[in-house]
Amino acid sequence: MVARASNEVAGRLAARLASETQGEVLFSAADRGRYSTDASIYQVMPIGVFVPRSSDEVKLALDICRDLKVPIVPRGGGTSQCGQTVGAGLVIDHTKYVRNILQVDASASTVVVEPGIVLDHLNAALKNSGLWFPVDVSTSAQATLGGMAGNNSCGSRSIAYGNMVHNVLGMTAWTADGALHDFRRFEDCVGTARELGLRVRDLALALAPEIDKRWPKVLRRVAGYNLDIFRNQNEKPYTADGSVNLAHLLVGSEGTLALTKSLTLQLSPLPRHKVLGVVNFPTFYKAMDTAQHIVAYGGAGQDAVLSAVELVDRTMIDLSLQNPSFAPVIRSAVIGQPDAVLLVEFSGDDRDVLVRKLAGLVELMGDLGLPGSVVQMTEDGPQKKLWDVRKAGLNIMMSLKGDGKPVSFIEDCAVPLEHLAEYTDGLTQVFRKYGSKGTWYAHASVGTLHVRPILDMRNDGAPKMRAIAEEASALVRKFKGAYSGEHGDGLCRGEWIQWQFGPKITEAFAQIKTFLDPQNLLSPQRIIDPPRMDDTRLMRFAPSYRVIPVKTALDWSTWNVQNDPATERTSAPGTGGDPAQGLAKAVEMCNNNGHCRKFDAGTMCPSYRVTRDEQHLTRGRANTLRLALSGQLGAEGLASDTVKDALDLCVSCKGCKRDCPTGVDMAKMKVEFLHHYKAKHGYTLKDKLIARLPDYVRSASRFAWLLNLRNKSPLLASLGERVLGLSAKRSLPEWRADHFFNSNTPSASRDEVLAAAQPVVLFVDTFNGFFESENAHAAFKLLRAAGYTVHIAAKAKPDGGHLCCGRTYLASGMVDEARARAREVVESLLPFAQKGIAIVGLEPSCLLTLRDETLAMGLGDDAQLIARQALLLEEFLARELKLGKLDALKSRLKPLGKQVLLHGHCHQKAFDAVNPIIDVLKLIPGVQPELIESSCCGMAGSFGYEASHHEVSMQMAELSLLPAIRKQPDAIVVADGTSCRHQIHDGAQREAIHAAVLLARQL
Ligand SMILES: Cc1cc2nc3c(=O)[nH]c(=O)nc-3n(C[C@H](O)[C@H](O)[C@H](O)COP(=O)(O)OP(=O)(O)OC[C@H]3O[C@@H](n4cnc5c(N)ncnc54)[C@H](O)[C@@H]3O)c2cc1C
Ligand code: SF4
Ligand code: SF4
Repeated sequence: MVARASNEVAGRLAARLASETQGEVLFSAADRGRYSTDASIYQVMPIGVFVPRSSDEVKLALDICRDLKVPIVPRGGGTSQCGQTVGAGLVIDHTKYVRNILQVDASASTVVVEPGIVLDHLNAALKNSGLWFPVDVSTSAQATLGGMAGNNSCGSRSIAYGNMVHNVLGMTAWTADGALHDFRRFEDCVGTARELGLRVRDLALALAPEIDKRWPKVLRRVAGYNLDIFRNQNEKPYTADGSVNLAHLLVGSEGTLALTKSLTLQLSPLPRHKVLGVVNFPTFYKAMDTAQHIVAYGGAGQDAVLSAVELVDRTMIDLSLQNPSFAPVIRSAVIGQPDAVLLVEFSGDDRDVLVRKLAGLVELMGDLGLPGSVVQMTEDGPQKKLWDVRKAGLNIMMSLKGDGKPVSFIEDCAVPLEHLAEYTDGLTQVFRKYGSKGTWYAHASVGTLHVRPILDMRNDGAPKMRAIAEEASALVRKFKGAYSGEHGDGLCRGEWIQWQFGPKITEAFAQIKTFLDPQNLLSPQRIIDPPRMDDTRLMRFAPSYRVIPVKTALDWSTWNVQNDPATERTSAPGTGGDPAQGLAKAVEMCNNNGHCRKFDAGTMCPSYRVTRDEQHLTRGRANTLRLALSGQLGAEGLASDTVKDALDLCVSCKGCKRDCPTGVDMAKMKVEFLHHYKAKHGYTLKDKLIARLPDYVRSASRFAWLLNLRNKSPLLASLGERVLGLSAKRSLPEWRADHFFNSNTPSASRDEVLAAAQPVVLFVDTFNGFFESENAHAAFKLLRAAGYTVHIAAKAKPDGGHLCCGRTYLASGMVDEARARAREVVESLLPFAQKGIAIVGLEPSCLLTLRDETLAMGLGDDAQLIARQALLLEEFLARELKLGKLDALKSRLKPLGKQVLLHGHCHQKAFDAVNPIIDVLKLIPGVQPELIESSCCGMAGSFGYEASHHEVSMQMAELSLLPAIRKQPDAIVVADGTSCRHQIHDGAQREAIHAAVLLARQL
């Protein structure tokens, strides 16, 4: 077997895959780089990547690899934390096409699926049947069933439902020789599967005393192969009837024994009701010590199932209290200042039984010396909110800036419950000894608490990691636990298999591997013959990691910091020593957890939703930037075409800024990239026309009739496409000679507004001012009707132009020009901001620039002051409403008897500015706006107008926005974004309006 294929072999492999399959063959340095890592600390360049179009093509790839002696690394979502999907072979990505549901049998509660299907997608498809697949991993929105089986994954509710191994009924899989086998109940197996079963049975029999002695007797043990199928050691037997299922040998084998073709899964009924008891503890130790009693209590009675006991510690409580939207939720769950809380969930079909069970928990706590310590939550709403906070707390922890990061390597050791308190106490002391600390969370019910000490892998992280691992393992041994309890072995824990099981069982594992994969073709060096966990040559951030110096256009100094692992305090901005002035550290915030591969409500990441390509995913983009900035994609660094390709379909929606757990802000990174790329490659005519629109819009509008001919003449449209690259299929915004800025709207003067009792400054942007003036007029009318003295923002030193936030320049990478515009805005509006007067805007992408990019342009405290006063019209009105200042307006609004559909602009979503629109629209009697669950509309500024993006743009719109609008042909559609309205016009042939227009119409 060639561990590292020569270029010649790689070339032949690529050529054969391209000629013999229809799949995607990705062998560029950037593609390989994007698949060189997962949610672990490791990085190994694969030979290439293959995205098969069907399971038949997986088999073809297997045959080709066998011919060429190239190893295979199968992959799902790549969310493994231990480097399971990292390897020098052909990575096969199952997620794009090999993701079908093959068969559902509701009466037998079973389903057969392909390995690339994501858990949430499966459960969404099952919802109407009243069934679900209950191994509810935290990564349910991106983890695939193939990957979950590979890792023997476990969910928060494993105490009720078990691990993956307890829920798999069968698997079909190819062994390395290309033969397909049906792995199921041993007694029903034939051929190689049966032969394998016989061998494993013999091994288990021969090693019985060793297995009894060495095997951890806990539910959560995922290391090595499940040799114990023939001699059960698990707290919960793998099968209900004590039979042996050979599929269970593949579960947890991390792609080393066979390639999964399909999985047959046992489904469970969806519980009708859940109740939650939040138990507050004065000390962390007491919480850990009490978990065993709660579990014992939960075990009694059939009708109320104890489905979760999850820990949230003091650090997470504090972090959540710092977040304005989580603080009320957490306050409703804590009593006083607990050191830790346990979230205890019971589920079942009879609500009254559950409520009684909860009352019993309260009693139990009283008996254990903690009277009055339980907050009871019996309604779904508060429960869901609290579970969301528990998840988000972890995300906040992961967003620590600086080179020291919470590292996952001993984060899922499992110990018997009676030792949990002593174990966690011991490990806390170990962390202290090495100058670090850990935040504890997760599955107290099954003795698996997640904890990640902060380590700097570029510095002394690797030796510290080993030292901590050694001491943690001693504790695990002392308490007879499992060192690898949830997240698998991979590169990180392979070497601990022998430590856990001893040489004889490890040798038996090797025999199983050799029987099924004699050539060591499948995921070599996983489980069998693993490397050392601290081999820095395998790491993403080895001590040798270097960053290319970059002089950035934007200010990234907030990320350019270091942290103290013991206190988590960060140093002053700009002191982190990043040669790329903080840009590299901002990019490195992506820890590859894969959260951006999601399709549920929320914005992130629209381009991935359409293409399902790793390249067009926030993670793929962050990895591309990281590789470029560290010189791993060649000397061109940031300004390369490779980076351009990765960022091309990023619509700068800022979905990631809001949804990414670590706050990766790709939209801002794209501005920085474009600045460098265009500086090197030059601006196109289209770039200049779009960016400089605010410069020439006033004079050009005089020729509106002429410019509008383009929309009437297909010839001119196709000429525009050829010369400028603007799609002929699009209508362009209509020019008008009579616009808001020459309409003599009676603006209050600067002095008048500064002296007014109810002052407001209306910031009218280029688009609403010159193209859709009715919106600006409506806003003006509305504010006046509400009793405000309205000053229309204008330059402090008039030069005939209007104020502009600089958005169009930013979108083209012209940061210096954007800075000049932003400076003008800041200087002109400062006197108002200093007096606390709101600066109100209409176009989300323009106004919100003042609260975002403008702050990264080195404009100092004045820009901060402006940002604090900059509000979208609805944000302003909602604020005033709360202050009781809109009574006059309310009384003037006429009722409306029509359904109102609302589409939020991506930047409104990113800045949590959608709810205010709903609040304000509700002022109209009879209106109950319905929010469309949409991602980006796909137009995104000029993106959708460009011929090269037209198709993707329409696909984005068709994901949810346009179908939702078509479903309600009579509804009024409200959309505040100029480009959103155009997309709705082009795609659904409906006229969407700005909220200001709807409100003003009702006056
Ligand atoms: C923030 C975070 C939270 C997590 N929470 C949990 C949790 O609650 N519980 C938990 O158990 N895990 C958790 N994990 C770990 C991880 O998400 C799970 O193990 C998940 O099931 C992996 O799914 P995946 O599709 O990403 O698989 P991958 O990481 O892509 O692959 C996992 C393994 O399966 C193998 N594999 C994939 N497809 C095939 C195939 N067709 N044939 C053979 N082998 C295959 C791979 O080679 C690899 O060894 C978490 C990870 C992160 C980053
Ligand atoms: S971009 Fe954010 S969500 Fe995506 S993998 Fe990176 S850290 Fe996770
Ligand atoms: S800005 Fe939007 S499109 Fe770009 S990476 Fe982030 S979520 Fe994806």
